[in-house]
Amino acid sequence: MSIENGPVEELKNYAGGEWIAPERHGLLDVRQPSTGDLLARVPLSVAAEVHRTIGRAKEAFAEWSATPVARRCELLWQLANRLREHAEDLARLVTRENGKSLPDARAEVKRALENTEVACGMPVLQQGDKLVGASFDIDGEVLRVPLGVFGMIAPFNFPLMVPFWFFPYALATGNTCVVKPSEQVPLSMTKLAELIDQCGFPPGVFNIVHGDRRAAEALLDSPDVAGISFVGTSRVGRIIAARSAETGKRFQAFGSAKNHLVAMPDAKLDDMVRNMITSCYGCAGQRCMASSAIICVGDETCDNVSRRFIEASQQVVVADPLDPRVADEAMVMGPVISARSRQFILEMIQTGLDEGATLALDGRGLVVPGCERGHFLGPSVFTGVRPGMKIHQTEIFGPVVVILKAGSLDEAIRIINDHPYGNGASIYTQNGYYARRFKLEVRAGMIGINVGIPAPVAPLPFGGLKASLMADTKAQGKAAIHFFTEQKIITERYWPET
Ligand code: NAD
Repeated sequence: MSIENGPVEELKNYAGGEWIAPERHGLLDVRQPSTGDLLARVPLSVAAEVHRTIGRAKEAFAEWSATPVARRCELLWQLANRLREHAEDLARLVTRENGKSLPDARAEVKRALENTEVACGMPVLQQGDKLVGASFDIDGEVLRVPLGVFGMIAPFNFPLMVPFWFFPYALATGNTCVVKPSEQVPLSMTKLAELIDQCGFPPGVFNIVHGDRRAAEALLDSPDVAGISFVGTSRVGRIIAARSAETGKRFQAFGSAKNHLVAMPDAKLDDMVRNMITSCYGCAGQRCMASSAIICVGDETCDNVSRRFIEASQQVVVADPLDPRVADEAMVMGPVISARSRQFILEMIQTGLDEGATLALDGRGLVVPGCERGHFLGPSVFTGVRPGMKIHQTEIFGPVVVILKAGSLDEAIRIINDHPYGNGASIYTQNGYYARRFKLEVRAGMIGINVGIPAPVAPLPFGGLKASLMADTKAQGKAAIHFFTEQKIITERYWPET
């Protein structure tokens, strides 16, 4: 695949170790969010194409699941080597199709690599349990065995990393998979399939099918898919949960978020504000772990934090993330993903004004010279926000931050716990008592103490609570093994020879 200055390519599906030209049912333009340039055309696969791909994955399962785990991991290790070799190309591709800064894209590739490396520990991780002497002359044993074909449905905001929360673990445990990338950012995973193709995996073990919701629905409805890992909005996550239940497959649906940061009066103001800025504006606020709501405890904290946060927001550089003048800067904010997304964010800013919040910093109308067709917005900050307001309840998924005031830590915790989403939440304090209460009482899956993006590293589980996660299993590390294997419990006895 040649994206740099090449002719516009029509992407293909990767099924059974072959590149399959799509049936002529429709192609979608993939455009660079910072310039509007046409990057590629992605096929919108129909159900028949998805089912054929699932068929290839199903055929591959018998041999792959019987392959020794060490051999499966050897091939994943080859993939890790390829990722290291192509890390910079992959990061540039992520930036190109998604619009996030290059440092953010590099971090994304690094997390993909880390997940591959963790999955390579499967010979140890997948070991079962044995209870010798469970009863008289009886032993008990717990086996973990693979299930078959897993479907993975990915969002636009981490084109490369999100599928890595799942497929290395699925493959290492002996399953095969079909990944459906987001139709908005299909290039990084296509490039990844090229790398996988070089690693020696048997045909059909790893497959990619491009498309929109119809391709996802075909995965959901197939009786040959044993489980679905979905990441995206909670609205679609609920559909995934219902349809998976109807067809008897296991599922995990990682959904939307509105992550809160709590500023306590004793927090280190300068460090805190610097940290908040990267949390709120990295990836233009389109991380599932981005913070978009700041709760200040006390009047004085609220005045100080609001003032300093707005000043720092004004300093954020908004630019084409591939502009060589800024490409390596740690904090550059690129565009949001699409014109549609930008329009939604503008509507939400208007909603905030209609609700009576104060737009203390207005990022509308920002134009990046030379990128007039890009989907840019500057940072926007609302003050005077109350918990019931739509701008607080809704995931805006853009560079819009709402600041609320609470009279106490108790009130701040209540505001977070009353919110429908519970992906992440962080507190800034030097006080261990406050921090301990926060981690124990806040209903969010990932908690930060003086860390604005509490996204766990690959060996630890990743996932939220409440409407941010529809399932009881998380991603990454040992949690993934639980999802991608089923337990069999053996009760075993042999009578003595007479
Ligand atoms: P989205 O829900 O619009 O799309 C996600 C995927 O679902 C895409 O592949 C899309 O083609 C498919 N899809 C869309 N409609 C569908 C339907 N009706 N049935 C089946 N599949 C369908 O999400 P998005 O806009 O691409 O991603 C952004 C969202 O993802 C945000 O809400 C963000 O918070 C969330 N996200 C969550 C996490 C997490 O860990 N909780 C991580 C990353 C992103």
